[in-house]
Amino acid sequence: MTHMRQSQLFTKTRREAPQGEVSKNAQLLIRAGFVHKEMAGVYSYLPLGLRVLNKIIGVIREEMNAIGGQELLLTTLQDPEVWKKSGRWSDEVNDTWFKTHLHSGEQFHSGSELGLANTHEEPLTALMRNHISSYKDLPKYAYQFQTKFRNELRAKSGIMRSREFIMKDLYSFSRDEEGFREFYERAAEAYLKVFKRAGLGEHTYRTFASGGSFSKFSDEFQTVCGAGEDTIYINEGRRLAINKEVYNDQTLSELGLRKEDLREERAIEVGNIFPLGTKYSAALGLTYKNEAGEEVPVVMGSYGIGPGRLLGTVVEVLSDEKGMVWPEEVAPFSIHLVQLGEDEDVKKEAEEIYRSLVEARVEVLFDDRTMRAGEKFADSDLIGIPLRVVVSQKTLAEGKCECVERASGTTHHRSLSELMSHLTT
Ligand code: ATP
Ligand code: MG
Repeated sequence: MTHMRQSQLFTKTRREAPQGEVSKNAQLLIRAGFVHKEMAGVYSYLPLGLRVLNKIIGVIREEMNAIGGQELLLTTLQDPEVWKKSGRWSDEVNDTWFKTHLHSGEQFHSGSELGLANTHEEPLTALMRNHISSYKDLPKYAYQFQTKFRNELRAKSGIMRSREFIMKDLYSFSRDEEGFREFYERAAEAYLKVFKRAGLGEHTYRTFASGGSFSKFSDEFQTVCGAGEDTIYINEGRRLAINKEVYNDQTLSELGLRKEDLREERAIEVGNIFPLGTKYSAALGLTYKNEAGEEVPVVMGSYGIGPGRLLGTVVEVLSDEKGMVWPEEVAPFSIHLVQLGEDEDVKKEAEEIYRSLVEARVEVLFDDRTMRAGEKFADSDLIGIPLRVVVSQKTLAEGKCECVERASGTTHHRSLSELMSHLTT
């Protein structure tokens, strides 16, 4: 739906955030009725929050499709067998598993074990054995938006670190290291586009981070923010950074960076891309016949973004003392049409503007509620739609409505036709 009357919206704004919610993102999102906290680290999305989440997902989907990604949807329930082959079923190796059991007839909880997926390298690698057998089948790129479960130790960052969250995870399958690298760089470019479109471009840095057991480095995308859990060292000139976990003399010399040229900042990991080499393909038997007729393992990479974490980061970084500030591409609506007063002529004018915007397919939230102006403005600032269009006795007298940009506070007085042409240019 592209439009909505606020009088019909079932969510209400609240003055106070719930007690015990320490993160700014969750406080604002809960106050504005975007999310509901079920328990620590577990949040539901309400209509306004879901609109933003879907916009973010839409942006990511466009950028993944643009680099050749094919969307699929894997299951949450996991067979331990594939994870045992890679060695990642063990709680010692991966301490974030949520595990459960199949029903066994008589007694609940005594059947065989299952896991709730926290990532998908193993099942997708196993699945791809059905589809990849020759060099002609490569490269391939598959991705999904799928719910991950992670038993996170600390969950104090609101929706930026939750125990159940949607992840966009893409996996690349290439013939060799060279083919992999070429795609990896394209994926890194696509990631920067995603963060730019979400309004975080200038705050986000490609960051060298630890590669885990299969590669020297991975690349994180870190958004500078005091509420971040990571520490990074930024080189502004080259627009890159080093995560504290790999910050040492050796890394600095390998990257040709000098300590004096770096600035320390707190940051949020909004994305992470990983070379996987042949770790999973070798463990799970994903091989192909190369041009010489030899059977060799596929070279893989994995590429994650948390749309919920990204949403929370936009709130942390762009909000002000009055509330949230959504960038156009991910805003729940483009326009917040606010009617002040109940006079018939004001109502008629507001209804007409609403109808025109709806016809022009502009995404508009219409505050048609009977409420004091102060309360309406406070709600509008909190919700953070990019442009507020006010209709009142005063604007009627002028023949122009008042248009206020949420981010800058800039105000313009525009007639309906001026507003419409402003929106379409
Ligand atoms: P962190 O170090 O913050 O725990 P991670 O390195 O374990 O994250 P990845 O496995 O790299 O996370 O996951 C890919 C992306 O998924 C992350 O870059 C982040 O955007 C998102 N993500 C990871 N964990 C969570 C979480 N608990 N809640 C929300 N999003 C998450
Ligand atoms: Mg990571």
